[in-house]
Amino acid sequence: MHPPLLDVKNLVKYHATQGGMVRAVDGVDLQVRAGETLGLVGESGCGKSTLGRTIVRLHDPDEGSITFKGEDISQLSRRELRPVRRQMQMVFQDPYASLNPRRTIRQILTEPFTVHDVGTRREQAERVEALVARVGLHPDHADRHPHELSGGQRQRISIARAIALEPSLVVCDEPVSALDVSIQAQIINLLRRLQSESGSAYLFISHDLSVIGYLADRIAVMYLGEIVEIAPKRLLWQQPLHPYTQALFSSIAEPLPPSVPRRARVSMKGDLPSPLNPPSGCRFHTRCPHVMPRCRDSAPPLLGVSQADSDVHRVACWLHQAA
Ligand code: SF4
Repeated sequence: MHPPLLDVKNLVKYHATQGGMVRAVDGVDLQVRAGETLGLVGESGCGKSTLGRTIVRLHDPDEGSITFKGEDISQLSRRELRPVRRQMQMVFQDPYASLNPRRTIRQILTEPFTVHDVGTRREQAERVEALVARVGLHPDHADRHPHELSGGQRQRISIARAIALEPSLVVCDEPVSALDVSIQAQIINLLRRLQSESGSAYLFISHDLSVIGYLADRIAVMYLGEIVEIAPKRLLWQQPLHPYTQALFSSIAEPLPPSVPRRARVSMKGDLPSPLNPPSGCRFHTRCPHVMPRCRDSAPPLLGVSQADSDVHRVACWLHQAA
């Protein structure tokens, strides 16, 4: 079996807030394989965006390792990271904030080639024209500024910039959540098509399990800085084991595919606790409908559901682990 494209081990990232230090990412292990889409789902404030930004080294990790293509990149300097950035790109939630308003789309899309010294000026111009077409925009859009485009068109430009250098991994951080529902499906379909053409892997971050379910091969569920369940989509769809995952499934409003079993509704109590002062033991215990005494004192590890598939379906819940 090939080593994963991305191998994150025991990653910790603190954030300074007015109330004190928050462990926004708290001991996360996950892998992304070449060409796959790993969906990362969880409520707003659970640390998933911080995790994505730390993986691409927009934030420096406080503990743990990030191994990309066999190299530990967690401690590389900005200069040492330059060749890695060519292989690892990010698409942000708000395309307007991530595009320089004073530059034309042509200038924005030329930048990755000039920064990484790829091609002659003529070749760069040809590549930019090809990129604009690839993301479904008219050639005239290249000479406009970001404010002259719609939200969906701007996100197409962000995606074009991210794929310009044909990266092996694209981290997509809520790339459709700021868009109208009618546009969301177009952008998701674009991401799918581009992936099938390029073979890039995606780490796709969203609070919306139905969006994740459409794109992902595997799904990781995050709660208060920790991964609580990870499994191939088909397995998670058929048999979500963690009560938090079950509650997320219950909250999907639109009809599920016919192959997905209908389940009793699982509701969570209360709101997401403050990450400044996370609950002891299992962090979900304040909201869990199945809470037991041991859950309040002891944090369940993320373990394989069965020995036969210990790397396939893992869950952090005492209901599924021996005493
Ligand atoms: Fe609920 Fe306990 Fe499982 Fe946590 S460990 S999810 S509190 S049953």
